[in-house]
Amino acid sequence: MTTRHQIKPGQPLTIGVLALQGAYDVHAEVLTALGVTPRLVRLPAQLDGLDGLIIPGGESTTMLKFLERGDFFDILNEFVHHKPTFGTCAGCILLAKDVSRPEQKSFAALDITVERNAYGRQNDSAILHEPTTLPGGPLEMVFIRAPRIDRVGPEVEVLASRDGHPALIRQGNLLAATFHPELGHDARVHQFFVDMVRKAKETAPREPEGAAAV
Ligand code: GLN
Repeated sequence: MTTRHQIKPGQPLTIGVLALQGAYDVHAEVLTALGVTPRLVRLPAQLDGLDGLIIPGGESTTMLKFLERGDFFDILNEFVHHKPTFGTCAGCILLAKDVSRPEQKSFAALDITVERNAYGRQNDSAILHEPTTLPGGPLEMVFIRAPRIDRVGPEVEVLASRDGHPALIRQGNLLAATFHPELGHDARVHQFFVDMVRKAKETAPREPEGAAAV
């Protein structure tokens, strides 16, 4: 990480990184650099008390297999529909409403259609610098066997694109990228997510003292 990070004041945040498979370690490093406490999540109980979660890149099919042992899928499904969640690459596939090539189970939280491995073998990995609505000029995007977003619903805001297809999107509490922002030399996407998490925490109704965690 060569970018200077901006550590913002405010209440401390704990953001989980789903660590079943894939590229979770570097996400935790970027969060630490941004002044956030990361927590690797391997068990459903480790979601308790998190302010937000990152679902990393990797193989969405493999992650699904791990999630479908026991009740992890259902508990995580509940989490992503209520708490800020950032899905990168395979994580974006898991959050999507519709998944193609092949069709696959997902949390259906983000109103998008993604096609897996859509760039074919020749172009399956690429580093591009594309314009973004995030402040600070073009964004470095590292694509690895990336999915392609073919449809976005009316609630989805597009923050950056690749060849006319959305590559970084937001819908309410959800953020998703078809690339790997943790592998670029730029923490702006993570900073954007941390700001989303902070805002959600600050505006959430306070839980009464001693309330049981649900
Ligand atoms: N091709 C992977 C999948 O379908 C995603 C690749 C990635 O996360 N870098 O899940």
